[in-house]
Amino acid sequence: MSGLFFRTKFKPVKKNFGGIFFCSYDKMRVMEKKLKLLTYGCQMNVADSERMAGLLAKIGYSLTDDLDAADLILINTCCVRATAEDKVFGQIGRFKTLKRQKPSLILGVAGCMAQKEGANLIKRAPHIDFVLGTGQSSEVARVVQSLERERKHLVDVSNVSGSIPCEVFPLRGGQVSTFVPIMYGCNNFCTYCIVPYVRGRERSRQPEEIFAEVKQAVAEGFKEITLLGQNVNSYSGGMTFAELLTAVDKIAGVKRLRFMTSHPKDLSDELIAAIADGKNICEHIHLPVQYGSDKILKRMNRVYTVEKYLELVKKIRAAIPNVSLTTDLIVGFPGETDEDFSETLEFLRAVEFDAAFTFIYSKRSGTPAATFENQIDDEIKHRRLEELMKVQNEISLAKNRALIDSVVEVLVEGASKTDEKIFTGRTRSNKLILFAHGDEQAGELVNIKISQAQTWLLKGNLETGN
Ligand code: SF4
Repeated sequence: MSGLFFRTKFKPVKKNFGGIFFCSYDKMRVMEKKLKLLTYGCQMNVADSERMAGLLAKIGYSLTDDLDAADLILINTCCVRATAEDKVFGQIGRFKTLKRQKPSLILGVAGCMAQKEGANLIKRAPHIDFVLGTGQSSEVARVVQSLERERKHLVDVSNVSGSIPCEVFPLRGGQVSTFVPIMYGCNNFCTYCIVPYVRGRERSRQPEEIFAEVKQAVAEGFKEITLLGQNVNSYSGGMTFAELLTAVDKIAGVKRLRFMTSHPKDLSDELIAAIADGKNICEHIHLPVQYGSDKILKRMNRVYTVEKYLELVKKIRAAIPNVSLTTDLIVGFPGETDEDFSETLEFLRAVEFDAAFTFIYSKRSGTPAATFENQIDDEIKHRRLEELMKVQNEISLAKNRALIDSVVEVLVEGASKTDEKIFTGRTRSNKLILFAHGDEQAGELVNIKISQAQTWLLKGNLETGN
């Protein structure tokens, strides 16, 4: 599970869609039905939303940002932390008035929270029309068409490890980078995590299907592909993940290739070699450690020790000298003592991650850890989180400062939100960089000389001769 959680607004983007999808979408567009899509949670949810938007486009729905214009509102939810669920409940409540004003509006809830709560969501908020579990997302168009014909509550959370959507042409957001899911579900059952219960067991997509989707994304103009899965290292679609990564690296037009997320127990020597030898495979590994003491790692069922993790880091850095390493960390896990926490700070200083996404443990009913004794007091959790962030921020800043005066390859993303004279982009190591732009276009690769460093970003100038 990655810690890179966010809420995404899908923007309707005009693109040159290829093949069959272009034809069917174009024909249906005359029907002018509007979809407002709200996505909470991780990158897997973003990818699922894009696939559902693709299916809904085939039955005539185009994306809108305007809630009042929407004929269908679809909320793709996350339940990894209680705060994510609270936000969704708040949002659903706000749509009650909208439904009263426009009775034809269809309101649907999909994703992890839909899978977890099922019909309870409709009991709690009867203005919801349908609830669709994670294994049923490919049914979204059929469900919406049925509601267009006849209004009734529909709930389908029947098969959490359901079929994986193939032959789906996602309606992708953004214009430079995109996600391609390679597998769904997780078999690891970390004791704090709800994912295996709401996303089911691991299912891998066939390589040919993945290659076709990558080629399609390239044809649409995307330059950077991120292969997605809860634990990509255990990909089992007839080849190893290292083989898959190497094969995708050879697809023409893929300027950058990333992957996410990796469980440390499954990160193989073969994969490290594939990254080291790859042409466009970026030197960045997001390797969630979750904690820095053996006692807590064991209680989390992470099945590696601090020593093993450190050995892995050493091996990665020896093979890929410029690699950037990022991680996820949870504080306040049940039973965490001051000693465990000190060990974690020590561990952070030993590894020197480029960045860490830090979270307070969130009790999720249905997971083993929710029943563990010695749940940690909120005030202690917050204090430890602050201390952890302080230590990591100092490390991140020092690592970024060490890059000053170096020249890095940057994939241009476009104008910054606050100043259109400034462009943003990402280094191969996945660091955000701001620079004053010339004639560059989003999607171009440029060289930037780094002039300033902050904790979460770099600033620089175009290197002449680009
Ligand atoms: S169970 Fe563990 S490996 Fe699987 S998604 Fe959750 S945290 Fe990640």
